[in-house]
Amino acid sequence: MTADHADVAVVGGGVIGLGIAWRAARAGLGVTLIDPEPRGGASWAAAGMLAPVTEVVYGEEALLGLNLHAVRRWPEFAAELAEATGHDLGFHTSGTLLVALDADDNAALDPVYAYQTELGLAARRLRGREARELEPLLTPGVRGAVLAEGDHRVDPRAVTEALVEAACASGVTFLDRRAMAIATDAGRATGVHLDDGSPVGAGHVVLAAGCWSGGVEGLPAGVVPPVRPVKGQIVTVRDPAGRRVMERTVRGMVRGRTVYLVPRDDGRVVIGATVEEQGFDTRVTAGGVSRLLRDGAALIPAIEELDLVETRAGLRPGSPDNVPLIGESALPGLAVATGHYRNGMLLAPATAEAITALLTGGDVPDWARAADPARFAGDRGVRS
Ligand code: FAD
Repeated sequence: MTADHADVAVVGGGVIGLGIAWRAARAGLGVTLIDPEPRGGASWAAAGMLAPVTEVVYGEEALLGLNLHAVRRWPEFAAELAEATGHDLGFHTSGTLLVALDADDNAALDPVYAYQTELGLAARRLRGREARELEPLLTPGVRGAVLAEGDHRVDPRAVTEALVEAACASGVTFLDRRAMAIATDAGRATGVHLDDGSPVGAGHVVLAAGCWSGGVEGLPAGVVPPVRPVKGQIVTVRDPAGRRVMERTVRGMVRGRTVYLVPRDDGRVVIGATVEEQGFDTRVTAGGVSRLLRDGAALIPAIEELDLVETRAGLRPGSPDNVPLIGESALPGLAVATGHYRNGMLLAPATAEAITALLTGGDVPDWARAADPARFAGDRGVRS
């Protein structure tokens, strides 16, 4: 590798690009990561649930298969990343409490519980009283719950910071520039053109620019990843004394809408999230914030007493079938890792593993075949 030529150029430094850069560098490759603002994407807004089932809609079996593989990768990945950096990642395996506020909601939890146990995931059906014993701040009206013991959680900002540090320590070169175009020669990706006009040559390019991946120029029709931004507003409250408010993630339906509350160790609770098709709009709206606070307080009334410390909107990279795009593109030399939609945190270690296998001359593992970008090769891409 020379200053302007890398074995691998990764475009995008969210959790997906960072994870790939770290793993590829650890596998012995010379890696350059290009991102003008690594803390500006969806990864910085994410709640951090590592929830293979509760984020999946019935019928999304392909996504479920990926998610189940991914959640099993997390304990080892978290341990390695913590060891490499000394960072506390806020990784917890205490599960998610799915709660029902009325009899209808409680009945609706039965098939969820049956599905989780059918998949072999650890889950327990609880009465309202038992749920409140686990989480004493739950509203007294709670009728029943499922404790999804197989769900984990992590602090996405701690993970992002740790990945930057681990990647640096492994020799990754960071360029705080925007990639304008993928360079090609004789039908092969050969590097990246940056926004200051300079080129970065590379043996392989990995396009991992989240919901912006479709906007990088230079790709033939059919190779442009068909990803779109799906806006999510999220609110953070905090115990003024910095005490942890809850042991586990709490999730439920309120007035027909899903709301979740994810605790952090320093007394913060992240309440999310809206799902909005608004293009690249990242405005935080009064309606979005008030809805999240109201629905969150319906499950944990005590959050009304906490300090409001942050409101934010992030853009999830959505794909047409909600399954990510992970693997070789139809353009030789270009791999794609995008479209992780609501599960990018969960899928980051598994995606890094799959792309690193490709970059080191192997095949994408079998479990990742459902995410093959070639399934959209007949499409003309989002710019057409
Ligand atoms: P991003 O994090 O968006 O990173 C893309 C990066 O590319 C950015 O840093 C950007 O600066 C860079 N970039 C863009 N264009 C260029 C360019 N031309 N050149 C160079 N760099 C470029 N997932 C979970 O698993 N669990 C959760 O609990 C969860 N909660 C979420 C809550 C909210 C509110 C949101 C919005 C998302 C949530 N997600 C969650 C989804 C998760 O955050 C995303 O799937 C994941 O962060 C996607 O990571 P990424 O690296 O692909 O994209």
